[in-house]
Amino acid sequence: MAGWPALASLVEEAGRPLVIEALRAWVEAKRGTPDVADELACARWCAARLAGLVRPSQRRVFNLTGTVLHTNLGRAVLAEEAIAAAVEAMRSPTTLEYDLGGGARGERDQHVAPWLCRLTGAEAATAVNNNAAAVLLALGALAAGREVIVSRGELIEIGGAFRIPDIMAHAGCRLVEVGTTNRTHLKDYAAAIGPDTAAIMKVHPSNYAIQGFTKSVAATELVPLAREKGLSLIEDLGSGTLADLDTWGLPHEPTAREAIEAGVDVVTFSGDKLLGGPQAGLLVGRRALIERIARHPLKRALRLDKVRLAALEATLRLYADPARLVERLPTIRALARPAEQIRAQAERLLPAFARALASLQTSIEEVRGQIGSGALPVDLLPSFALAVRGKGLDRIADAFRALPIPVIGRIADGTLFFDLRTLDDEVAFAAQLDKFDGVAG
Ligand SMILES: *Cc1c(COP(=O)(O)O)cnc(C)c1O
Repeated sequence: MAGWPALASLVEEAGRPLVIEALRAWVEAKRGTPDVADELACARWCAARLAGLVRPSQRRVFNLTGTVLHTNLGRAVLAEEAIAAAVEAMRSPTTLEYDLGGGARGERDQHVAPWLCRLTGAEAATAVNNNAAAVLLALGALAAGREVIVSRGELIEIGGAFRIPDIMAHAGCRLVEVGTTNRTHLKDYAAAIGPDTAAIMKVHPSNYAIQGFTKSVAATELVPLAREKGLSLIEDLGSGTLADLDTWGLPHEPTAREAIEAGVDVVTFSGDKLLGGPQAGLLVGRRALIERIARHPLKRALRLDKVRLAALEATLRLYADPARLVERLPTIRALARPAEQIRAQAERLLPAFARALASLQTSIEEVRGQIGSGALPVDLLPSFALAVRGKGLDRIADAFRALPIPVIGRIADGTLFFDLRTLDDEVAFAAQLDKFDGVAG
């Protein structure tokens, strides 16, 4: 390789083992063909192969799908405060489980539990890897080997194979279904309680809605029954939120504080849905129960690392000043963005978009996006999109996904839409449009 300077520079970039691997592949590919001694051709071939190999697999994209919290695109984008805290924690040793005052071992939950208690009114709190883990752990710690009552209208499956009956089985609990798909009454719960019942669980229906002739029992109504029978009342809020979404003109989503005030014993919710933080599962509730949960052996397997705890702590701190959330928390900022502001952005970008798509029919369209991640399933966020109509939309979508920062849109009704609600880096997006030649001519 020493005699081949083009290869030497590849070694500099990618390291010797990967270049040797590429060279072997090249020799294999070119076996018997005459250009085996052509250094430049070889270097080009290897460079192309290596570029594909060393490019990060997980890459930044523009999420212009219209779904703000898109699970496949990584859900919440973190606040700058959370990013800074995570970076600092990555770079240095930290007080993850260390009590500086006493110079002794500390508790990792201590970084987030006081904030969670303050923000929800709960007595105690703990955090794990995600909300699926939180539900599994709560059930395993509070009801293993015993019965848990759930309404048939709440036996949901959400994305990624999270199904309440399966989680229940893995936690070692026996599921007792009550009511019907569309209607469950308080008396159904009462009738199902037996000597082996440990808990009643409520689950936010998340990604679907039951409409028409329906009845479900609110947590407030279940509290007296659970208390009288000595059962734990667990509520999985799914997305859940710590802020009143009504403040920003959004439909109401149940807050963790409301569930605690209603008297629910243990409430679980996600860190990276409406909360706008890193992936996490949060559990808040009565001290004795949260302590049982935190002591369960599974807690060790499901715990959070220092990086996410740092990001979560910084995110929670932002909630102490709800009035400034809209400036500081990207999830709330995206959800609260006025449609008129999005339209103005679409108008700024349309000329470059139209130029990039030359002969195709482009326009600005009024669209409806969604929160995503199971919060309020129906399309409700009025927004504006750059749109392109015509033949070969799949090819155009492919070309946008092949850009240096891939752009992900949505095809519906013979139109490719790029919903701009979640476009924060307009400069980078516009710069890519100027270079776009994926479907020229
Ligand atoms: C999203 C959701 C979960 C799972 O939460 P993750 O944080 O994705 O693990 C559990 N229950 C409900 C009701 C949900 O909406």
